[in-house]
Amino acid sequence: MSKKEIPLSVDALNALTETYPTPFHIYDERGIRENARLLQKAFSWNSGFKEYFAVKATPNPYILSLLKAEGFGGDCSSYPEMVLCDKVGMRGEDVIFTSNDTPAYEYAKAKEMGAIINLDDISHIAYLEDHVGLPELVCCRYNPGPLKGGNVIIGKPEEAKYGFTREQLFEGYLQLRDKGVKRFGLHTMVASNELEVDYFVETAQLLFELVAELSRTLGITFEFVNLGGGIGIPYRPEEEPVDLLALGEKIRVLYETSIVQAGLAPLDIRLECGRMVTGPYGWLIGRVLHKKETYKNYIGLDACMANLMRPGMYGAYHHVSIAGKEQASCDYLCDVTGSLCENNDKFAIDRSMPDVEVGDLAIIHDAGAHGHSMGFNYNAKLRSAELLLRENGEVVQIRRAETMDDYFTTLDFNGFEQFVV
Ligand SMILES: *Cc1c(COP(=O)(O)O)cnc(C)c1O
Repeated sequence: MSKKEIPLSVDALNALTETYPTPFHIYDERGIRENARLLQKAFSWNSGFKEYFAVKATPNPYILSLLKAEGFGGDCSSYPEMVLCDKVGMRGEDVIFTSNDTPAYEYAKAKEMGAIINLDDISHIAYLEDHVGLPELVCCRYNPGPLKGGNVIIGKPEEAKYGFTREQLFEGYLQLRDKGVKRFGLHTMVASNELEVDYFVETAQLLFELVAELSRTLGITFEFVNLGGGIGIPYRPEEEPVDLLALGEKIRVLYETSIVQAGLAPLDIRLECGRMVTGPYGWLIGRVLHKKETYKNYIGLDACMANLMRPGMYGAYHHVSIAGKEQASCDYLCDVTGSLCENNDKFAIDRSMPDVEVGDLAIIHDAGAHGHSMGFNYNAKLRSAELLLRENGEVVQIRRAETMDDYFTTLDFNGFEQFVV
């Protein structure tokens, strides 16, 4: 039994597969919008609050434009991600460019768009100045190192490749100030898929104190702090979602004492969450192709790691249910697999499933972020379609499935014959 749900009946899903063959990803517009509104509400006390959706989580213009309509901006870390934001009308400072190991042409694009540039390293101050010129507003990414505990996906901050050390921040903002930069932001991103409210409250405290110290020491004014992304989602049925209203309220209290009373307001709160925005509102649907019983039991799907890498890549848990058998008892212990020639192509290992039959539809939950977008073409597997369940119940295709021609399009079938003599 599971409290994980999908807003489509087994019949509706089966009917959909007649138009859109499995596997496919499907997203729920209503769920995404309601959640977006809750986040806005949680921080409505901060007049400059903005969430910059981490584009990499679900880089689809339909999803981005509905998030834009809810007041979100975009967080990009590559040129094409900036182009996607531009295409849906996210412009100027509604886009933040948080990259690392960045080539100059990407900075040039960010500057041309008027996006906020978030520098990952002190050497990039001179690099940005030399290659594209410094913009009026610059943000720097802080890596607190041993001052902050890490978590599994992102690891310990001091082992993470991102950001400036504390000393480098003081030196970096000094350089920026002396080079004529007038407007400043401070950023950090230390957690990924974190479910503890207090973890983010501590991060906010760390940044508020740092803003106070940097402002005092350097005589500069900060416009915003960006607390990064990393708000987790309850991938496991027994987990609870982060209470966004409680999070907003705790940060508000801290803001009153650390920012308002220190005379540092207004300071805008920014976030750049991806996972919590779309993750729970997307599902990967695949059909059971095969049951196999050897040393273990296996249920083989027509979806594979090319559609959802997280279980294979991080051993991440994704809940799997069988359409129409949500209430059945789960007594069949098995691995749920894909078809790649890689033994880690498993959506679930030693999972108790209901009595599954070939032809059933498997629903892989919480695949709305870092799902389709992490997909790859190993084993010449083609990436699946993305569908959107509209608020009126209509289903639209927002990305078609790849075809074999897409896969072959970068190959030159005319050249190779002359080459091999
Ligand atoms: C990936 C990433 C995010 C989004 O992370 P989520 O876990 O999806 O919230 C935000 N900011 C940066 C810099 C990232 O790399």
